[in-house]
Amino acid sequence: MIKKIALATLAAVAFSAATPALATDYLANTKSGKFHYATCRTIKYPDAPHFVHYSSREAAIADGYTSCGVCRP
Ligand SMILES: [Zn+2]
Repeated sequence: MIKKIALATLAAVAFSAATPALATDYLANTKSGKFHYATCRTIKYPDAPHFVHYSSREAAIADGYTSCGVCRP
């Protein structure tokens, strides 16, 4: 019983630590001028040098990027 609770707690901590990064992370493509959710299916290589990370969509828009029509960030 105690062991089960500990495992559930660990899983909850790991999940809450991983979620914000996925929910708030945006990638702007300096070649296309568009920005995406980091989870967008059109992004095959998010670590490619022409992607710039943004933590907010407002910041990406302020830099002149337009939102992707597939993931609609
Ligand atoms: Zn996209």
